[in-house]
Amino acid sequence: MRTAVVVGAGMAGLATAGALARTGWRVTLLERAERIAAPPTAVVLWPNGRRALESLDPDGAWSASTSPLPDGGVRRPDGQWLVPPRSRAGATGPAPAVAHLEDLYDALVADLGDTEIRTGFEVTTVRTGRRERPAVGDGRTLIEADLVVAADGIDSRVRAALAPEAVAVGSGFAAWQAVIPGYRVPRLSDGQALGGETLGAGYRFIAIPLGAHAAGKGGIYWVATAAGAARPEPAATQLALLQRWFSGWHEPVGELLSLTRPEELVPQGVRELRPLPRTYTFPSGPGGVVLVGDAAHAMPHHLGQGACLAFEDAATLRSLLADATPGDALTRAIEGYTRLRQPRTATVVRQNRRMSAVVQARGRLALRARDAALNHMRPRLLGRTLDPVSDWSPPD
Ligand SMILES: Cc1cc2nc3c(=O)[nH]c(=O)nc-3n(C[C@H](O)[C@H](O)[C@H](O)COP(=O)(O)OP(=O)(O)OC[C@H]3O[C@@H](n4cnc5c(N)ncnc54)[C@H](O)[C@@H]3O)c2cc1C
Repeated sequence: MRTAVVVGAGMAGLATAGALARTGWRVTLLERAERIAAPPTAVVLWPNGRRALESLDPDGAWSASTSPLPDGGVRRPDGQWLVPPRSRAGATGPAPAVAHLEDLYDALVADLGDTEIRTGFEVTTVRTGRRERPAVGDGRTLIEADLVVAADGIDSRVRAALAPEAVAVGSGFAAWQAVIPGYRVPRLSDGQALGGETLGAGYRFIAIPLGAHAAGKGGIYWVATAAGAARPEPAATQLALLQRWFSGWHEPVGELLSLTRPEELVPQGVRELRPLPRTYTFPSGPGGVVLVGDAAHAMPHHLGQGACLAFEDAATLRSLLADATPGDALTRAIEGYTRLRQPRTATVVRQNRRMSAVVQARGRLALRARDAALNHMRPRLLGRTLDPVSDWSPPD
C-alpha cells in the first residue's frame, strides 16, 4: 500500500491527509501540539476554496460547517459607502462562505478516514536522497514513507531544510481577530449593517456575522488590520489601543471592540515568504517531499486566500496522485504538482500585493486612487466576472 506522512495538522495538513486517506494511501499525520486545535477565529472560503473542498469531498462534513458570506459592502470610517452591498443575482459558481475555524477543523478531522494521528510529534529532521524513500524525524523516531507532505506552516522545518532560500519576513502589518459569541452580539437599530468592510488610512476593519449553527452559537467574527509591526503589549492593552485607533468609526466597529474580551483577541504580526520556494517538489527515491499551504506560499491575509490555496494544493495533489504508484509514476506526479501550483500561487501573490497597496493607502491622492481601484475590484471579489483569484477549478 502507498504510504504518506503529512507533517502539520492545520487546514492544509488535515485536508491533504483526509484526501489521501480516502484515495488508497496509508497516511500518518504528525502534529507537534498535544492535540489538534483550531485558533478561535473564522475563515472566508472564496469560490476557489469551496470548489477545492467540493472536489476533495463533495459530501464532506465541511459543507455543514459553513454559512453564506453576506456582502456588507465597503465603507469609509465615517460610514460613507465606497462600494454598497450588492446582491449576488447573476453571479455564477459557488457563493463565498464563512466558517468558524473550530467547526471547520472538526469537520476536516471527521473526514480523516483511517489516518493515523500522532500528536506531540515535532518534526526536526527531514531526509531525502536519490535512492532512499523520504523520511522525517523528531530526533528519536524516524518515519519513512513514499510521500512526505510538509504542511507545517509558515515556519516549516521541512521547507527550511529543503528550500532555505524562502524566508518568512514581516509584511509591514499587524492583524487582530476575534469571534464574539452569539449571545453577546449587539442588536442594532434598523438599517444598520452588522457586517462589512471599512477602510481608513492604513487601517481596515472587517466584520462578518457567522451562521447560527457556528461554534459559540452564531456570533460575529471581526478582523482588524493596521500598518506596522506586531505589538508587544498584553491583550487588554492591545484591545484598548484598537479602541483608540478605531474610535469615531461608524457603528458597529467601536461596539464590537468594546464587546470583545481580552482572552478572545488573537493578535499577530503578518508575515509572508520572500522569495517563494524555487520548487514545491523534492524527489527522493521512488517518491519525494511536497510543500503545501503556508509552508509553500504564506502571504498576507488581504485577499483571505491562504486557506483557500491550501485546499487547492490538497485537491491538486489528490488528482495527480490518484493512480500514481511509487517509482517513475509518483515522481512524475509530484513534479506535475509544482508545475501546476507555481504559476497559480504567483498569480494570487501578485493580486494580493495590489490589495496590500489598497490597505496601506494614506494621504489624499493615495486614498482617491484607492477608492477608484475599489470600484473595479469589488465586483470581481463577488465572483461576477472571471476574477483570476476566485476563478480556479481542480485539475481533472
Ligand atoms: C488575520 C488573518 C486572516 C485570514 N483570513 C483568511 C481567510 O478569510 N481565508 C483564507 O483562505 N485564509 C485566510 N488566512 C490565511 C490562513 O489562515 C492560512 O493560510 C492557513 O491557516 C494556513 O494553514 P496551514 O495548515 O498551511 O498552516 P498552519 O495553520 O500554520 O498549520 C501548521 C500546523 O503544523 C504544525 N507544525 C508546525 N511545525 C511543525 C513541526 N515541526 N512538526 C509537526 N507539526 C508542526 C502546527 O502546530 C500547525 O498545527 C488568514 C490569515 C490571517 C493571519
